[in-house]
Amino acid sequence: MHELGLLDQFLKLPHQEVSRLQAQIGREVVNLVDFSYLPARCKFIAFMPQWDFLDFLAEQARRYQSFSLRMNTEASGLIEEDGRIAGVVARGGGDELHVRADLVVAADGRGSIIRRCANLDVEDVGAPMDVLWMRLSRKETDPHQTMGRIDAGVFFIMLNRDKYWQCAFLIPKGAADRYRAKGLEAFRQQIAHIAPFTGDRLGELTSWDDIKLLTVKVDRLKRWYRDGLLCIGDCAHAMSPVGGVGINLAIQDAVATANLLHKPLSRGRCPQASLKMVQDRRLLPTRMTQRHSSPARYTCRRDRHRFPCGAYKITRAREAIS
Ligand SMILES: Cc1cc2nc3c(=O)[nH]c(=O)nc-3n(C[C@H](O)[C@H](O)[C@H](O)COP(=O)(O)OP(=O)(O)OC[C@H]3O[C@@H](n4cnc5c(N)ncnc54)[C@H](O)[C@@H]3O)c2cc1C
Repeated sequence: MHELGLLDQFLKLPHQEVSRLQAQIGREVVNLVDFSYLPARCKFIAFMPQWDFLDFLAEQARRYQSFSLRMNTEASGLIEEDGRIAGVVARGGGDELHVRADLVVAADGRGSIIRRCANLDVEDVGAPMDVLWMRLSRKETDPHQTMGRIDAGVFFIMLNRDKYWQCAFLIPKGAADRYRAKGLEAFRQQIAHIAPFTGDRLGELTSWDDIKLLTVKVDRLKRWYRDGLLCIGDCAHAMSPVGGVGINLAIQDAVATANLLHKPLSRGRCPQASLKMVQDRRLLPTRMTQRHSSPARYTCRRDRHRFPCGAYKITRAREAIS
């Protein structure tokens, strides 16, 4: 945002700045992250609702005459001519739309229809966890810290969103039905045990409808492109929530795409060699990030459940402390 000259405007949007992250393991509090040492313009994570963030980007992009945004329009397929991708078929407002393009950049996320239509091979990196995602109201007297809480097989993350807590309860992959079968009260008790100060408001979770299941997957395409098509962001490499960096990676892909492709595109169609340059530029950070944020690689079998790398390191930290 700083490099684009948008930072000051961006930080006027309502957001929370978090420069330190802590975890509470049992009764111990461990400092996990301190961004205040970063050699960067912003030494914090900014938390803001995704719709504000996306509206901001769309508003900035509208300054360019050639920019056009179609809301409520869903890409449903690809236009293919002689083995080359020549555009997308989309549905919007009940109409079918054919959008022809020199290059289709697919950024339709982890459930990408486009990458499926393009028959690109996917490598599953593994993510043995899902997330139960919910809100609890926040009181002035509550702690301020955004924090992970770990105890007896429970991993609960609370993000301070000022008026409310955005909460993530990590569960083993596919275990949501098991939790539902045990009942809402048992679930509330687990939260009350790990974050006792929330006990007075767990009644806000009135039914399982208040608790969204987010399925986590970590994968990447073996090849991110075909003639006339480039996949970026989660469409090219689905990121886990661990570390909270998937959005950074997606934006960095977009920046690399713009920097590497604007010249070939200004001359017309992009050769596949240029598309390969984007993958080559972005593959290493993607692999490194997936490696360090993939729960599959670093799991702790000592606990009743398997937890991601953070928990493993925290277990080590806890041992060191005790
Ligand atoms: C539970 C969970 C929590 C996470 N928390 C964080 C976090 O705190 N911080 C972080 O950095 N990352 C987080 N991540 C990862 C992050 O969400 C992704 O890495 C990031 O959103 C990828 O950005 P993207 O633009 O590629 O895809 P997305 O953000 O998924 O955007 C894809 C867009 O394409 C649209 N779309 C989908 N299909 C079509 C279609 N057919 N036609 C047209 N449009 C379509 C969607 O509506 C969506 O707007 C989390 C992931 C999970 C699963």
